[in-house]
Amino acid sequence: MFITAHTSAALWISTRITDPILAFILGIVSHFIFDMIPHGDESLADHVEGKRAKFLYEMRVAFIDTILAVVLIYFFVSHGPVVNPYVLYPAVLGTWLPDIAWIAIEHFKLTKFYWYIVYHGKLHNFFDWQYSIVYGVPFQIIVTLSVLKMSF
Ligand SMILES: [Zn+2]
Repeated sequence: MFITAHTSAALWISTRITDPILAFILGIVSHFIFDMIPHGDESLADHVEGKRAKFLYEMRVAFIDTILAVVLIYFFVSHGPVVNPYVLYPAVLGTWLPDIAWIAIEHFKLTKFYWYIVYHGKLHNFFDWQYSIVYGVPFQIIVTLSVLKMSF
């Protein structure tokens, strides 16, 4: 899923939990649960030729996605319920870390950790059901807004 959708889970966690370490761990767990839900972005870079070009394309999307996630956090902090920043930010880091780890392993070619990329990819295909990004983006916007609503 997009980082923005994962971030909404972090916001929700920060309204329910007071322990920063638990918030961080639940952030990671929520990432993997969200990734298991068929979310329509697996074919995001299918039109791009070449593994490296594909990766760079995904990174450009991730860059925009991260900006949106920061805007979401800003909106939540300025308009949402009062939450402890020492809980909110560990939760955010937890939801981002699984994808940051994937990007770092791929980018720096950390072959020792390629098992993680395989594991992360397998989670994405847990239900073995893929669909178009045309439905994936609206679906993820709905997920993000629904979880955001639950956090208010
Ligand atoms: Zn992921």
